[in-house]
Amino acid sequence: MNHWKELSALCRQLGCCCKCDEPMSLHTSFQIGGPADAFVDPSQESQIAAILQFAKQKGIPWRVVGKGSNLLVNDAGYRGLIIHLGEAFSAMALKGDTMIEVQAGASLAQLCWFAYEHGLTGLEFAWGIPGSVGGAVYMNAGAYQGEMQQVVRSVHHLDCNGRFGEYELDELDFSYRHSIYHDVKHTILSTVVQLSHGDPEEIKAKMDDYMARRKSKQPLEYPSAGSTFKRPQGGYASALIEQSGLKGVRVGGAMVSQKHSGFLINAGGATCQDVLDLIKVVQKTVQEKTGFQLECEVERL
Ligand SMILES: Cc1cc2nc3c(=O)[nH]c(=O)nc-3n(C[C@H](O)[C@H](O)[C@H](O)COP(=O)(O)OP(=O)(O)OC[C@H]3O[C@@H](n4cnc5c(N)ncnc54)[C@H](O)[C@@H]3O)c2cc1C
Repeated sequence: MNHWKELSALCRQLGCCCKCDEPMSLHTSFQIGGPADAFVDPSQESQIAAILQFAKQKGIPWRVVGKGSNLLVNDAGYRGLIIHLGEAFSAMALKGDTMIEVQAGASLAQLCWFAYEHGLTGLEFAWGIPGSVGGAVYMNAGAYQGEMQQVVRSVHHLDCNGRFGEYELDELDFSYRHSIYHDVKHTILSTVVQLSHGDPEEIKAKMDDYMARRKSKQPLEYPSAGSTFKRPQGGYASALIEQSGLKGVRVGGAMVSQKHSGFLINAGGATCQDVLDLIKVVQKTVQEKTGFQLECEVERL
């Protein structure tokens, strides 16, 4: 029996869904990416632990993904196992008066709405970021002067041997678009966020304002992974790209958005290679014209 047949049998036994040769273009906001050898969608922590133990025992490469909104997946796909934390793993509950405990597969939208419904303020900045809670913790996602590090208090995870563990805020090593999970290969299972009581009308008004700003400034009508590059020290990627005359520049189906130069978009039929080639063009031109080096925020798979 090969690994994938064994994995399918294990998933059947565990009661979770396992697909072979699953197109990753269906699971990324860029709508780009070839097939993953295996794609599992667990709903329980014990299933994730068993799958990680299996992968370790068989030496199978694996990666955990959420909403795929910060991912660029190769055209040839991923030779290994994708563990997808999504809808099936998205429970959340109030903890005490002002804290929420939420599973990693919940969307930020679900979490923000839950906070709003309970009159809790602090997460409005995340309304409109199209990621999962796990992906947002991993990336220390942020916008409009807010970042996950301002609200996350602790994170519960599994290490690559399938052992449970937890980090408190002071162990999470948060910085701009970075957390400790970039350095250790753990699977984020859930997090506790600390919010405070607020006026629901004010919370909603802030969420509406941030969403309106996104809709007016970002090319949300095209598939993308958001801002392709990190903000360099002393500058803004989108302004530097625009200043370098790159607005609207294309490679194949990949294009520098006309609406927001920080977004490389899939303008129709883009391949991963198109995006990678366009990233190189942008980095080289910006370096030549402004002296700034742009580093990718989007992660390769
Ligand atoms: C239109 C648009 C607008 C965006 N705006 C913003 C913005 O304002 N601010 C911002 O910060 N980002 C923004 N993004 C980028 C993206 O939404 C965030 O980075 C988000 O946090 C990624 O979450 P995800 O679930 O999609 O992660 P994925 O893309 O699925 O994964 C990203 C990384 O996180 C890791 N990961 C995911 N889940 C887990 C887990 N449970 N355990 C361990 N590792 C995990 C993956 O392995 C991968 O390395 C935007 C993207 C789009 C498409």
